[in-house]
Amino acid sequence: MFNDFRLGLVLLENIKKAGYIKPTPVQSAAIPPALEGRDIVVTAETGSGKTAAFLLPMLERVSTGPRGGVRGLILCPTREIAIQTAQHARKLGRHTGMNSAAIYGGVGYEPQLQALRAGVDIVVATPGRLLDHLGRGTIDLKNVSTLVLDEADRMFDMGFLPELRRIMSHLPASRQTLLFSATMPPEILALAERFMKDPVRLAVGRVATPPETVSQAVYMVPSARKTTALLELVQRQTMESVLVFTRTKHRADRLARRLSWSGVKAACIHGDRSQRQREAALEGYRQGVFRVLVATDIAARGLDIQGVTHVINYDLPAVPEDYVHRVGRTARAGATGQALSLVTGDDAAALQGIERALGHRLRRLEWNA
Ligand code: AMP
Repeated sequence: MFNDFRLGLVLLENIKKAGYIKPTPVQSAAIPPALEGRDIVVTAETGSGKTAAFLLPMLERVSTGPRGGVRGLILCPTREIAIQTAQHARKLGRHTGMNSAAIYGGVGYEPQLQALRAGVDIVVATPGRLLDHLGRGTIDLKNVSTLVLDEADRMFDMGFLPELRRIMSHLPASRQTLLFSATMPPEILALAERFMKDPVRLAVGRVATPPETVSQAVYMVPSARKTTALLELVQRQTMESVLVFTRTKHRADRLARRLSWSGVKAACIHGDRSQRQREAALEGYRQGVFRVLVATDIAARGLDIQGVTHVINYDLPAVPEDYVHRVGRTARAGATGQALSLVTGDDAAALQGIERALGHRLRRLEWNA
């Protein structure tokens, strides 16, 4: 139970209001050592409840410790995750007096400067924009008592390692560091070794396994029929909220247009779209204005979208790990979901790689329509 953790009453009340009945495995494993002030390295995926696993101990520490300046810093790979995590921090931090702000690129500086001037206790930031603020002297990190590196493997994949090192040189050595990563490549472990103090290593659940509540299948489709197959699939009654993945930004755009032409309300999200467009697409999808969201891997990684009933791989990902991440977008926090992949003759090697990583064969269905 959450009551077993040494969390303040206000936080326990906020947890209740958020509708969390009992801690998820990652929360049970990470919250106690984090509350003791230990550094921790956690292997956990999006969907595991990892955000609350670091926000709760951070909120507890920041709200009960000495006041003044930014005391909690969360670094994450994308703007969307930064926005989402700051919202989560506001929800869990209600009535604690702690202010949270998201600092990310692709938008103007002024609103972020205003927030910083007004006083912020917890900052959720993407590395590039945070460094800009540090360079301009508009943020001071010398009071940070807890640092979170969220989705560390993703930040590494995106080439943020030099930025992370530079940011860490602005932080007090006495801070607590919590590192969360879906996978633990050697570079991340080296980072942990270099910048953390005797961290507790926690691995929650088996990595690279989609939630058991997701039913998975592949449709064997001739490549010329892929788009038709997708259109027919998304028009099925049960497809309430569908996340479709494509290999490239261009293919995402094209597919979203094709869906819209066919009368399916669809939006798309990828790295070439402006911040405003990405937010509008995501918000529209969350609200149900769009029934289908077409996405590329980078844009969708780490996003917490509730109520996705179906994930469809229009293109199989080249990396098996991305398959697991995609499939994990449905069936969040115990709900059930379905993941379908459209597989053509050219995908044999990719499919084999995915099945090897999963440790089992995927159910195959012939596309006969
Ligand atoms: P995350 O892995 O942090 O992206 O969280 C996935 C989803 O699970 C989010 O929507 C959280 O609000 C939700 N969640 C987190 N902790 C719990 C919990 N203890 N019980 C139920 N849902 C939770």
